[in-house]
Amino acid sequence: SRSFAHRLNGLPAPATIEMARRARALKAEGRAVISLALGEPDFATPPAVVEAAHQAALNGQTKYPPVDGTPALKAAIARKFARENGLDYTPEQIMVSNGGKQVIFNAFMATLNPGDEVVVPTPYWVSYPLIARMFGATPVFAPCAEEDGFRLRADVLAQALTPRTRWVVLNFPNNPTGAICPAEDLAEIAKVLRAYPDVWILSDEIYEHLVFEGGRSASIAAVAPDLKDRTITLNGVSKAYAMTGWRVGFAGGPADIIAAMRGVQGNATSGVCSIAQAAAAAALDGPPDLISTMVATYSRRRTAVVQALRAVPGLTCAMPEGAFYAYPGVAGCLGRTTAGGRRIDTDHDFATALLEEEFVATVPGSAFGQSPYLRLSCATSDDVLAEACTRMARFVSGLK
Ligand code: PLP
Repeated sequence: SRSFAHRLNGLPAPATIEMARRARALKAEGRAVISLALGEPDFATPPAVVEAAHQAALNGQTKYPPVDGTPALKAAIARKFARENGLDYTPEQIMVSNGGKQVIFNAFMATLNPGDEVVVPTPYWVSYPLIARMFGATPVFAPCAEEDGFRLRADVLAQALTPRTRWVVLNFPNNPTGAICPAEDLAEIAKVLRAYPDVWILSDEIYEHLVFEGGRSASIAAVAPDLKDRTITLNGVSKAYAMTGWRVGFAGGPADIIAAMRGVQGNATSGVCSIAQAAAAAALDGPPDLISTMVATYSRRRTAVVQALRAVPGLTCAMPEGAFYAYPGVAGCLGRTTAGGRRIDTDHDFATALLEEEFVATVPGSAFGQSPYLRLSCATSDDVLAEACTRMARFVSGLK
């Protein structure tokens, strides 16, 4: 076989892709597959946002946009950071990218050298360790335990830091657990980070609006203003405004790293689609109606799913504080055999057998660096979720 760049050596293929491929194949065979594998809101982009894009296209906003974002969107982002996060950023401290994902890519490419370490709390969204590895860095994990509600403990973070640490990633509300990081916890985390003045902080707040029961995940740059000069605050419109396909994410941070990230992006993709930027500005400046609808809906579904799963002997399930996933534990099912004769030794075995025997697609916790769990997306209808829980209960009660 052909060889590719060394930087791709040893990068694992995401388990999500294999699950999705098998789910599609089963569907094609006529099976009633339920997919809870995707991390994508099941809402439509608000019509006013679509209309803003339409108008932008008609009125000539169709030329190359500036690499770091249109002035109009950057101004809307500055207002958003001030209004919602208590953070003041100048235009030189803001940059727009193709999704939050490109913010991470830009930031890591601009700063990481081989041998550097990136501290990533587990379970994690898969992209942080994968992108870090692409640049020769080593991810170092800080486990967030189920018994702590998957919140990050400052003492656990402290154990992961070394003289080689270049970045600490914070992602709250968290994908996949929904755990948040309240201001008091961030203040403790900030104390740890003060002892490492050369470490950058990536605060991925893309799920910030999706929090339940009045919970609030704060921004570290606001809680600890002395750390703002080394923090990238990442956000975007994908999750809060149901705009995953528009590919607009953004970052606030010190001007020097933002300039370096602009340099990276200028050589990769240039500026983000001008029409999508106009849509994103309309979303950020628009009314929060969709957000409150989504929060009420995700909260209701989450409670129903957690209650249904907790009723199944062999499963555990922490109550997610935000985002739109549930992360049930399957430790009580390991070492057993399914009704279809499959032995379950890992969460990957569980997810595979659940798909093959009950046609429910999930993602095993191993994909997020913490086993034995499954991630279920609640971004699908109440009825479908109820049916999925019924099938999971049947699957687990059939274990021998
Ligand atoms: N951060 C987290 C934690 C995510 O789950 C995602 C998407 O799944 C992103 C960032 C990136 O989203 P996007 O690139 O659509 O802005």
